[in-house]
Amino acid sequence: MAKPKFTTHTGMVDILPDEAHKWHYVESVIRKTARLFHFQEIRTPIMEPTELIARGVGQLTDIVSKEMFAFDRGDDHYVLRPEGTAPVARAFVEHNLQQRGGTQNLFYIGPMFRAERPQKGRQRQFHQFGAEVIGADDPFADAQVIAFMMHIYKEIGVKNMTLKINSVGDPESRKAYKSALQEYFKPHFEKLSETSQERYEKNPMRILDSKDEQDQPFLKDAPSILDYLNEDCEEHYAKVKSHLELLGIDYKEDDRLVRGLDYYTKTAFELTSTDLGSQDALGGGGRYDLLIEEIGGQKTPAVGFASGIERLMIACEALNLPLGEPDQPDVYIVCWGEKARLWALEHQPEFHKKGISCMIELAGKSMKAQMKDANRNNARFAVIVGEDELEKGEFTLRDMKSSEEEMVSLSKILEKLSAE
Ligand code: AMP
Repeated sequence: MAKPKFTTHTGMVDILPDEAHKWHYVESVIRKTARLFHFQEIRTPIMEPTELIARGVGQLTDIVSKEMFAFDRGDDHYVLRPEGTAPVARAFVEHNLQQRGGTQNLFYIGPMFRAERPQKGRQRQFHQFGAEVIGADDPFADAQVIAFMMHIYKEIGVKNMTLKINSVGDPESRKAYKSALQEYFKPHFEKLSETSQERYEKNPMRILDSKDEQDQPFLKDAPSILDYLNEDCEEHYAKVKSHLELLGIDYKEDDRLVRGLDYYTKTAFELTSTDLGSQDALGGGGRYDLLIEEIGGQKTPAVGFASGIERLMIACEALNLPLGEPDQPDVYIVCWGEKARLWALEHQPEFHKKGISCMIELAGKSMKAQMKDANRNNARFAVIVGEDELEKGEFTLRDMKSSEEEMVSLSKILEKLSAE
């Protein structure tokens, strides 16, 4: 076959009809979980002001420094959103959502965009679901967000996962920790990777994030943030852990897990899976008590998580989890002749009124082709309509699984199928 003239951009993927049911299934589990915890959906635009993302995600991150799809139109600077938290935080401030009262327990599902080098589990357009609790500094909120995330994976049946958790402290705790890290890395500076050298001055905590082989020998003995937490952060961390225990959620402490931006505070967590390959993170999140102030709102504590849907699907594939079933029509009306087709068109709404999905072949193909089409679409029943049937007012109802057939009136067919 000749190469098509137009194809998707690198790292941007079509979701084809045969996969749609998997997405519907995953989304339905997310929505069901949100209902169980009573988190409400928020939908923000796909494009945001570039400055919001630069501040809200952080100038020093790879996302902002190298991976933004950004363009200008007139005086406005647009960026395709690379993540969901900054947009939700913006909406919270813009619409004064705190006026609704209580904590804002929100969730979202949608496409995100990052100009990364595509590989398995890494695309340029991908999909995230996530949740945010805005307005609570209580460790209850951290535990609730983690419970929300874990509930989804459990419901879908994902296994071989590890929930890693850490505390990244607050600016006060981090100040001492950053100096300790610089002190520690100083004698090794020349041997660190270029990226880590760049991070040394501004953001030494992110050196701990390095996957570079060159840095690994120096990471093991680096000081631990846990030795630098002040009393408030220490207590918060201890409570998050004991709440997780109360919830029966297993976790592993990992003092190397960092979110190296100043507005991330206290809790950080990541969910990994051994079924994913090198991009092994299913999702992650943490507390960001200083972000809302950073983007122009009042200081408001918040905590959230974000997970990748494609990664969840890769894990499910590895585990042979089915992810729902393709939709199938309850009935396919197979028509012999034009009169029968018109009958089908006229009576299709009666099926629909009863909630019975009913399909008619639309291209005017032969009866044989229609039967094939009914099979291909996995129709549960076929109703065969010809001139004789129209005269008698009785039609062949064929059970497509057992191949049993009976002659019945339309009202009997409707009765039988609505009972199915
Ligand atoms: P992050 O916003 O970077 O913390 O990412 C949260 C989750 O989104 C990750 O754990 C992945 O599951 C998913 N994710 C992030 N970047 C990509 C990408 N480029 N392609 C596919 N999934 C991604």
